[in-house]
Amino acid sequence: MSCAPAWVDRKILETDMAVETKGHSAISAVMRVKPPRRMHGLIVGVSFAVGLTFGATAGFAQIASDSAPATDETVEATTAEPAVTGSDGAETPEVLTTEATAQDAAQSDASQNADQEMVTPSGDATSAVVFMYHRFGEGEYPSTNITMEQFDQHVKELTSGPYTVMGVPQIVSALADGKGVPDRTIGITVDDAYRSVYEKAWPVFREHNLPFTVFVSTEQLDSGYANYMTWDMVRELSKAGVTIGGHSQNHAHLPDFDIDRVKAELANSAARFEEELGYVPEIFAYPYGEANGEVIAAVKEAGYRAAFGQQSGAMHTESDFMYLPRYALNEHYGAMDRFNLAANSLPLVVSDVTPADYTLTRNPPAFGFTLAEPAPSMNCYPSEGEPTMSRLGEERVEIRLDGPVSSGRWRINCTAMGPDSRWRWFGMLYTVP
Ligand SMILES: [Zn+2]
Repeated sequence: MSCAPAWVDRKILETDMAVETKGHSAISAVMRVKPPRRMHGLIVGVSFAVGLTFGATAGFAQIASDSAPATDETVEATTAEPAVTGSDGAETPEVLTTEATAQDAAQSDASQNADQEMVTPSGDATSAVVFMYHRFGEGEYPSTNITMEQFDQHVKELTSGPYTVMGVPQIVSALADGKGVPDRTIGITVDDAYRSVYEKAWPVFREHNLPFTVFVSTEQLDSGYANYMTWDMVRELSKAGVTIGGHSQNHAHLPDFDIDRVKAELANSAARFEEELGYVPEIFAYPYGEANGEVIAAVKEAGYRAAFGQQSGAMHTESDFMYLPRYALNEHYGAMDRFNLAANSLPLVVSDVTPADYTLTRNPPAFGFTLAEPAPSMNCYPSEGEPTMSRLGEERVEIRLDGPVSSGRWRINCTAMGPDSRWRWFGMLYTVP
């Protein structure tokens, strides 16, 4: 009430770093039609860091935005402040070690049907947090890598009690059906099927019975690069219950393609999955998190029942299940304070988001949304551009920028303090032609 909240002067940082990667450059150089706009060295993402400073009065947030596009070399290790633990000692969520483990799934063999056989933990929560990894212990790629020390800390945290790590298909099913999941439900995803997933992460996930999903671009495996898994390895994971997801054929910038080519990407990768695994995955991740309305329709038409972008935030029952959020983790944004903050985050539920399409047709974008419930302390942080925020009544939020944003990807994150010092979070990622 009148006393200063515990989080006064806390800074948080937001991520959204360069998540997709130079590891693709070998392939991309061959496959990509339109490279120039993403040829800033090896980096294809935008990162920024933001400070939120809360004044002691009235929970009013001031922006101390320090957003800067970052390259692999210049991602700033912004000082991460004390983590929001979310527990406050007030409630101790029941410890639910996952019942839907990889081991269980292994017994049912056909991993794609595993969720039907597994018991999905239920609960009252209507949201879950999904993390995204790429590489493990590959220090030469810090923007897509997590160190093994960081990874061990993440696993230690996830197995420390309050969390329920569930398979992503199970989370999707539960939330899409409007059912609850346990509070602090976590999903783990790994993009691109690098060899280090098999060699370094898989033994750890297996040891701790942590289910996870690997998103595979089929051509990257077909090309036989040594830094990617082989199909034998993917088969082994699949048989052990690891969820395999789709990630296009050529790890393509899908919004750049005409729609027939997008459909060919999906059809060709589906054919390869069928040949190699005997099934086509049902969960998809857009390469680079890039999508637009046509791409999304094609992914849906191809049979995928859910798809992830790369925008931050907690997924929830009202999410767009064909463009779900995930928190990216890498060396720069893999520290425990941020990990804890993300793992304990709650959705900032919004509707009527503009622009509605995930690829901008107008630049600067006229960004706006309607809050499901008032959030007076909310603030928003764009990856580029000086924002002016207007509040129309308690619910409608409109943000305008001082000028156009660069081509590539533009992100904006809106956060507000929620119950028990847990952040409510709504992130968007727009592809900028
Ligand atoms: Zn990828």
